[in-house]
Amino acid sequence: MPVNKEKYREIILELRKKNVILVAVSKTKTVEEIMEFYELGHRDFGENYVQELTEKHFVLPKDIRWHFIGHLQSKKVKYISSFVHLVHGVDSVKLLQEINKQGIKHKRVIDCLLQVHIAQEETKFGLSEEELDMLFKDLPSYEAVDGLTNVSIRGLMGMASLTENTSKIRLEFKYLNSLFDKYSKIQTEHEKMEILSIGMSADYKIAVEEGSSLVRIGSLLFGERISKGTL
Ligand SMILES: *Cc1c(COP(=O)(O)O)cnc(C)c1O
Repeated sequence: MPVNKEKYREIILELRKKNVILVAVSKTKTVEEIMEFYELGHRDFGENYVQELTEKHFVLPKDIRWHFIGHLQSKKVKYISSFVHLVHGVDSVKLLQEINKQGIKHKRVIDCLLQVHIAQEETKFGLSEEELDMLFKDLPSYEAVDGLTNVSIRGLMGMASLTENTSKIRLEFKYLNSLFDKYSKIQTEHEKMEILSIGMSADYKIAVEEGSSLVRIGSLLFGERISKGTL
């Protein structure tokens, strides 16, 4: 399927004015399709599946910044830890500890976002506000024990409900932005909370209005996905 370069240029212009980063979500798309945007100068790409990501990283230019935006299992961290730019979907201390371990192994600090559950659907992963409170409360003690020297929490990520109801989507984004405000105040020296990853093809305009600093857009750029990536 041809990629939509016109739409890309339009979105990039729109986002640049507001200092919002565009992650082009390339899951299920080919390396040739990714290269079309690479050749326009684009470097931030997002993938959901570990194996697909490692295969693409292997063959594509090494200056691509790979965002892992799917649900990451602890046992799979090791496959992407040498190169991943930002892990968006962290939802437990256990996962943070594993990412830290792999960061130490590869002598790098791995940037992460905590995924917050803001949608109504049961199926969307993420932490509740209570769990987030707990995590930030416990973090100093984990840092004291494990060090957590090689993992850095850089912000929050969320997905709004799959609905046509834009005021509902807006409310969910507003809520996440209020949590982002709350936690970016209590940041430690180690955790610099600067990134709010909200907004996809259908709702990125609302997300930008509600304070997004990074949007994850797939189908508007690459066309609809047919196979497994309907998530
Ligand atoms: C697939 C996916 C996107 C992109 O979705 P589009 O609707 O195609 O823009 C963004 N974020 C996550 C977490 C995804 O899984």
